[in-house]
Amino acid sequence: MENYFDLSLEEMKSYGYKIVDLIAEHWDSMNQKKPVPEFKTRKELDAIFLQEAPEQPTDANEILDFVMQNVVPNSTIASHPKFYSFVPGPSNFISTMSDSLATGFNIFSGGWLVSSAAAELEIVTINWLLKMYDFPVKKGGGIFTSGGSMANLTALVTARRRKCGDDFSKAVIYLSDQAHSSNIKAIRVLGFKKEQIRIIPTDFEFRLGVNKLKNAIAKDKLEGLQPFCFIANAGTTNTGTVDPLDEIADICEAEDIWMHIDGAYGGAAILSKKGKRMLRGIERADSLTVDPHKWFFQPYEIGCLLVKDASWLSSTFSEKPEYLRDIEGNESEINFYDYGVQLTRRLRALKFYMSIKTYGLEAFRKAITYNIDLTEQVEDYLRKSRVWEVVSPATLAVVNFRYNPIDKQYSEEEIDKINQEISKKVMDSREAVFVTTVLNKQVVLRMCLINPRTTLDDVLETLQQCESYATETLIAK
Ligand SMILES: *Cc1c(COP(=O)(O)O)cnc(C)c1O
Repeated sequence: MENYFDLSLEEMKSYGYKIVDLIAEHWDSMNQKKPVPEFKTRKELDAIFLQEAPEQPTDANEILDFVMQNVVPNSTIASHPKFYSFVPGPSNFISTMSDSLATGFNIFSGGWLVSSAAAELEIVTINWLLKMYDFPVKKGGGIFTSGGSMANLTALVTARRRKCGDDFSKAVIYLSDQAHSSNIKAIRVLGFKKEQIRIIPTDFEFRLGVNKLKNAIAKDKLEGLQPFCFIANAGTTNTGTVDPLDEIADICEAEDIWMHIDGAYGGAAILSKKGKRMLRGIERADSLTVDPHKWFFQPYEIGCLLVKDASWLSSTFSEKPEYLRDIEGNESEINFYDYGVQLTRRLRALKFYMSIKTYGLEAFRKAITYNIDLTEQVEDYLRKSRVWEVVSPATLAVVNFRYNPIDKQYSEEEIDKINQEISKKVMDSREAVFVTTVLNKQVVLRMCLINPRTTLDDVLETLQQCESYATETLIAK
């Protein structure tokens, strides 16, 4: 028999150990590395990678060395303590290895009959999450997805199925101007027209204006349209702001509107005391997105959708084709392909399960509490400084600010330019991932501190670096 792909036991072990060593060394030395790779153009990378697929084999170690020299160093380190922007990916080592196990054993996570333990793990971990958010554990349910975007899409499909059935020509969906772009993307994927989408303005603190929502709903009803879903934010990506969830839930209940909460960024904060207080009302959602590969410290990819009633998912996504006939089981034995879009799924529950069992929930609570407190300390520092202006206060580990010295009078345009330049210089130095966002038409620096390896000293070092860049920029002018 020809051997097309298999290695000997010894070859597999030596190749595998080499990769484990590389990963462990990376985790051990990550903090000393620069998080930002040297910028390379498409042309430069083409010069390295662009080749025809080879007909003939190459030595496995040679390819591995090539990847370690060219792929890894050209990737930003999302788990680095000075990765402050976007949403960091702190991850953790146990889950990293769990993911390797899931891949190594290639465990199919679609149906009960094929891998019952995989489905059981997903049921158990989803139950942990349901309990965290005070969702009904017996009746409720959920599914792990590739990320928050896919969880939001899955939620909106379900909402539309439940509220509109087959005819959604008059359906209207509402979201705030701070909602994450994945929601609009999902709405487009679902085939809604522009006229069916209402973007509700937020107030000066980036929170949904409840009155504006009420007015929009009333107007649409008068025009014979069908308001069917509102997407609330539990931690906006920009500012960490939580919409007034209880008030929104009251409106949704009164108007028979599906309440989806996008907690992809802030949802994990439920594990801290402060977060739990801020997220009050989250338990009233019909569906909730959380994103374990953000603030639950999981490696990519794992998102999650929770719903109040698991049958909403199965009645939306079940199809019964003949080739899956033999794996239909008893109802409590869940086939997760009936709960979402994917049939073949990797075992995402394993890393969530193993990391929580290994570290214990208390470690997660402490880490998240540390992140929230650290961000407040950074805000304190900024407020005491004569050069920094806090634009949006520390909220669920996000703080936005800009360089704007109190004893100078710069125009808004100049301040925007200075802050843009600060970010550019920091990125060029490769010392930190630190980019801008726009709030109230101002260019601001946004710091998202959900990495428990980030220290106050890390942040102060970066801020001092920023201050000296600002001075350089101003002198050069
Ligand atoms: C990150 C994020 C998403 C998208 O999640 P992905 O995991 O990147 O697909 C959705 N909503 C919010 C609020 C987010 O912060």
